[in-house]
Amino acid sequence: MAKEKIVIVGTGWAGYTLSQKLDDKKFEIIVISPEDTSPYTPLLASAACGLFDFSLAEEPIRHKSRQLTYLQARVEDVDFHTKTCKCMSACDDVRAGEGRAFEVSYDRLILAPGCVTNTFRTPGADKHSFFVRNVADAKKVQHRLKQLLELASLPGMSEEEQRGLLHIIIVGGGPTGVELAAEMSDLFNDDFSKLYPDLKGRMSITIHDAAPFILGAFEEALRKHSLESFSKRHVTVITGSKIKKVEVDSITTEAEGSIACGMILWTAGKKQIMTDDYLHVLTPRPEQEPMRDVFALGDAADIKKYFLPTTAEVAVQKAEYLVRVLNNSSNAASPAPFEYKQKALVAYIGGHDGVVHGRPEWSGPRAWAAWRSKNLLWTRSWRRKFMITIYWALDWLGGKEIARA
Ligand SMILES: Cc1cc2nc3c(=O)[nH]c(=O)nc-3n(C[C@H](O)[C@H](O)[C@H](O)COP(=O)(O)OP(=O)(O)OC[C@H]3O[C@@H](n4cnc5c(N)ncnc54)[C@H](O)[C@@H]3O)c2cc1C
Repeated sequence: MAKEKIVIVGTGWAGYTLSQKLDDKKFEIIVISPEDTSPYTPLLASAACGLFDFSLAEEPIRHKSRQLTYLQARVEDVDFHTKTCKCMSACDDVRAGEGRAFEVSYDRLILAPGCVTNTFRTPGADKHSFFVRNVADAKKVQHRLKQLLELASLPGMSEEEQRGLLHIIIVGGGPTGVELAAEMSDLFNDDFSKLYPDLKGRMSITIHDAAPFILGAFEEALRKHSLESFSKRHVTVITGSKIKKVEVDSITTEAEGSIACGMILWTAGKKQIMTDDYLHVLTPRPEQEPMRDVFALGDAADIKKYFLPTTAEVAVQKAEYLVRVLNNSSNAASPAPFEYKQKALVAYIGGHDGVVHGRPEWSGPRAWAAWRSKNLLWTRSWRRKFMITIYWALDWLGGKEIARA
């Protein structure tokens, strides 16, 4: 008997978990994504700042022990009536020089393409900002950072020019923006100020957020602690900030006008698809009927009236729920709805300090230790856990690879 065909769109936390855990004896599994690896996003800020090799921050989709088809392509459209995905190849075709269009049919479709970064139509933001969604992005950030330092070190640079080049602006004060600021402030305050003594005191980081606070998912005491810790580490936080324009070397805000900078990191995002409690995609309004053979999860989707955060934790819990439902789909019992189990939210704020939601007494080095061990738990292979631990030990002994002692 032919196996039921499941098409998974995306190889992020949700798509990867499904691709590795769905029963490959029961289903024909087809994974479509432009990326043949899955990024360990909580490790990207550390990788961009040189804590360990980039290859440790991602996991390949293909595994010898798994029966699955991987197609390096982007799903551009879906015909829900004929159950067909319309795809465009995303690998370099040296002969044609352009993409190859093809179609893939499905019995069940799982949509996990992540969220579209939302630049809120801010002029210049798409063109001039850096994003940190995968290893390729993290590499670009590290490259730019090094270039800025070298540029600022050239003869004839005025102090004003140096301060502008070495000013990093992070848009978005969620855990992603905060952790990027934390890792960069470690680099600036500790490693780079020794490596570039002439530039000491000229490197700075500013987080801009339109909301009245940063780390919105954390308790107020922890948000206050983060602000205090950041101010000691030369990270400025500007809340209620409305960015009007982004240019290659500056941003313009409503309150402050033009602010010079060397790099703008944009970390805000949005969700798009609405599902029911069983992760079925809902048809457009007004009907909003569940589509029984189409699911959506991860950052791309939210359950109607649920408002879950866009985190790897949520993406993985939903993926594991769907794995259980689909692997047991021959059981007569109808599945229970998805229920999110809140786990500790941990964020690193630099200088061996961190915050743990629900545990205000844990801020400080204890929270940093919790964050470090959580980072290790995120990785899915013993090989990566081992290698990352070795890198951390080497960093501790002789400095980070990009700023060795
Ligand atoms: C720097 C950073 C740090 C983070 N730190 C944490 C943390 O510490 N803890 C935490 O819980 N969460 C963290 N997050 C959030 C977490 O990474 C996301 O919530 C999670 O990645 C969402 O998983 P996903 O599978 O929905 O999407 P993603 O991981 O975004 O993956 C989407 C996938 O879909 C593919 N795709 C996109 N469009 C198409 C298309 N048209 N066709 C086919 N494929 C497509 C993409 O190439 C990608 O492979 C962090 C995020 C970032 C960026």
